[in-house]
Amino acid sequence: LDVIRAVEPRVADAIGAEVADQRASLKLIASENYASPAVLLAMGNWFSDKYAEGTIGRRFYAGCRNVDTVEALAAEHARELFGARHAYVQPHSGIDANLVAFWAVLSQRVESPALARAGVRQVNDLADADWDVLRRELGDQRMLGMSLDAGGHLTHGFRPNISGKMFDQRSYGTDPVSGLLDYDALRATAREFRPLIIVAGYSAYPRLVNFRLMREIADEVGATLMVDMAHFAGLVAGKVLTGDFDPVPHAQIVTTTTHKSLRGPRGGMVLCDDTLAEHVDRGCPMVLGGPLPHVMAAKAVALAEARQPAFQDYARCIVDNAHRLADGLLRRGARLVTGGTDNHLVLLDVAGYGLTGRQAEAALLDSNIVTNRNSVPNDPNGAWYTSGVRLGTPALTTRGLGAAEMDEIAALIDTVLTAATPATTASGAPSRAKHLLDPAVSAEVAARATEL
Ligand code: PLP
Repeated sequence: LDVIRAVEPRVADAIGAEVADQRASLKLIASENYASPAVLLAMGNWFSDKYAEGTIGRRFYAGCRNVDTVEALAAEHARELFGARHAYVQPHSGIDANLVAFWAVLSQRVESPALARAGVRQVNDLADADWDVLRRELGDQRMLGMSLDAGGHLTHGFRPNISGKMFDQRSYGTDPVSGLLDYDALRATAREFRPLIIVAGYSAYPRLVNFRLMREIADEVGATLMVDMAHFAGLVAGKVLTGDFDPVPHAQIVTTTTHKSLRGPRGGMVLCDDTLAEHVDRGCPMVLGGPLPHVMAAKAVALAEARQPAFQDYARCIVDNAHRLADGLLRRGARLVTGGTDNHLVLLDVAGYGLTGRQAEAALLDSNIVTNRNSVPNDPNGAWYTSGVRLGTPALTTRGLGAAEMDEIAALIDTVLTAATPATTASGAPSRAKHLLDPAVSAEVAARATEL
């Protein structure tokens, strides 16, 4: 930090403070983790200075042999780890990976016939008039994705995201009673809507998804099955999700982030079968600019780590910890969406505590428990205030916390939320914070936590 401090001390201070914050708090954000020093160091070096547009061995810049080395290593580790035919490791983030995948499917399914009619081989060679034809055909395309309040992600065709502008979108959801994915309803919607792409995957669904069944539905309606495994990639890598629950053998295309349960650098990745490989590799320059060689180096290191047997123990422990946390909350009368968990996350409905998700998030933060508010299915409080809090175990599992600590954390969460009172301002500003900072209240909370 001294090197940074000599240039801009406030940045050095902020980095130091961030490390201190992350060490001092219980990080329960389901999409966060702690990358290893090897990953962090692979990311913070001279590769950052290099431009390397293109693909391995076919760059638009000279002097890319070392970038070729790390990109090839990352792709090889990804293929081996996930059993994929092809891996594209350039996407800078999850949204980039999804955009690359969408374009790959579109170009495979729509561009080829349109281009054949226009008599050209590559989309880059299209004349302006032909672009108009292509645009018209693209404009008709439909996507079926999981609804946001059932746990889907914005990039799966929703309005505030560009995917919602690219596609005519329809959602599938969960059963109103069980909270579980309703495959029959999904099949009926797919038959009626005839989407080009069915997107499976989620940010806040605490159960497993049967990808074999999803592929069956996709095949029946002639759709491509795309799985966004950003959240649970670490569980796939760690062989906790296998058979019907491993997306790679079932989906034609799989996207992921590398920084969540996979515990790598911030970034994205696309895995696909042979038929899509050529289209996926056009991610740069279609969607991406120059790749980030330093991040690809860190992806190679993280993926090599995930191929170690210890990573399988880690992945199992993530799920065991989530079960234990869920059980601890249920024993205290908390309401969990779907009544529990099968993966790395728990969705706690805080309405029973008389709180919105925003109030619960603030109250927990005051107690050094870092979470994020989240909608629950058919959420009466909308996407901003919400009625839920999402809790994930990947980060605390990395720090070595286990069953006993999960019991204590469940007790602590219940104690804090029971003591919290709803905010009274229209903005939802936490009048709560003041209440919790009251020494008498803090003492009472501390005493009850000790009792539990
Ligand atoms: N896909 C899913 C399922 C996610 O949960 C997220 C992020 O939370 C993304 C994509 C986007 O990833 P990024 O933030 O790297 O763009």
